[in-house]
Amino acid sequence: MQVNRELFDHVMVPNYNPSEVIPVKGKGSRVWDQKGDEYIDFAGGIAVNCLGHSHPNLVNALKEQGEKIWHLSNVMTNEPALRLAKKITDATFADKVYFANSGAEANEAALKLARRFALDNYGEHKSKIIAFNKGFHGRTFFTVTVGGQAAYSDGFGPKPADIVHCDYNDLETLKSLIDDNTCAVMMEPLQGEGGIISPTQEFAEGVRALCDQHNALLIFDEVQTGVGRTGHLYAYQGLNVTPDILTTAKALGGGFPIGAMITTTDIAKHLKIGTHGSTYGGNPLACAVAEAAFNTVNTESVLTGVQQKEAMFRELLEAINTKYNVFSEIRGKGLLLGAVLNEQFEGRARDFLVASMKHGLMTLVAGTNVVRFTPSLVIEEDDIKAGLARFELAVADVVNG
Ligand SMILES: *Cc1c(COP(=O)(O)O)cnc(C)c1O
Repeated sequence: MQVNRELFDHVMVPNYNPSEVIPVKGKGSRVWDQKGDEYIDFAGGIAVNCLGHSHPNLVNALKEQGEKIWHLSNVMTNEPALRLAKKITDATFADKVYFANSGAEANEAALKLARRFALDNYGEHKSKIIAFNKGFHGRTFFTVTVGGQAAYSDGFGPKPADIVHCDYNDLETLKSLIDDNTCAVMMEPLQGEGGIISPTQEFAEGVRALCDQHNALLIFDEVQTGVGRTGHLYAYQGLNVTPDILTTAKALGGGFPIGAMITTTDIAKHLKIGTHGSTYGGNPLACAVAEAAFNTVNTESVLTGVQQKEAMFRELLEAINTKYNVFSEIRGKGLLLGAVLNEQFEGRARDFLVASMKHGLMTLVAGTNVVRFTPSLVIEEDDIKAGLARFELAVADVVNG
């Protein structure tokens, strides 16, 4: 069988438009395609591959658990899930964990829990959910409606109700929207898909205060920012603003699908037996790999390493910009970085991505105006240098037409 990009168009639902390149192997921050061409990976599977490709700790965990037990269902619990939950709760504000299989599912659980908590404690009127424009929370109908791009939730019939949106970093508008009927405010503690937008400290603290004032739960969607990405285990720890519910996925499994919703005992108790569930949630194979990823990332050396690597990225990107004058700003935190195109190149982020690919570099975009980098948290300095040398060639290509 000829397995190529053409086959995609024959057999796959056309909701994606993937690259012509089909990778077949990865090691660390290098990836090889069917032809044996090599790429440096600054995309990290969209902030998922926190330890690069084929990290020995993850491969060993997968092999070991693979020879023990793969799946049980939630009729039984299992050792890897309990160990992982204990480690997550020990390392965060949370006391309780609900395992899911993806970011959207973790967020779905968070939103359902917030609604149930408000219903049980205050009554049916308290159902308003406030979220932010440009925010992204996944593609289930509830989460995509809470997300801040109506285009993604339009065209599927009646939407889940009582969800309103506000601009990120706009505390005054939030103040005018929030009231005692509000059950939750959901936000990313650094908007990823929306363009790598950091909250101001004043905004983050202000949201927390407004939630407290109106007995609304603060949900942090850390699906992209979590598990070391910003140089802290979770971004809330760097902001010193603690949410009531936090969701984590992407890097949690280092490439194996898993998500989690974590919260306090007092809130968790409203998800009583039978109120919510998932066949695969807490699957032993997923939890064993996630435990290995968590153990590896949650160390002083990896987390401070992220900050050092951020500094290196920024310095080398600034040097490219000094030569070619294409960016108005390098923004983000840790290894969730965005190079924002200046007026002259406005809207052309995809051109930089395509040119990078031609020079053997995998990057991402965040919207049409930001080139996004979410590499492995343990990427070697030599790979950063080599990757950005390739990026410079790509920038030169775009600038020279
Ligand atoms: C990727 C992402 C999601 C969705 O995660 P899936 O695993 O694709 O469902 C949700 N929230 C944020 C902030 C994300 O970056």
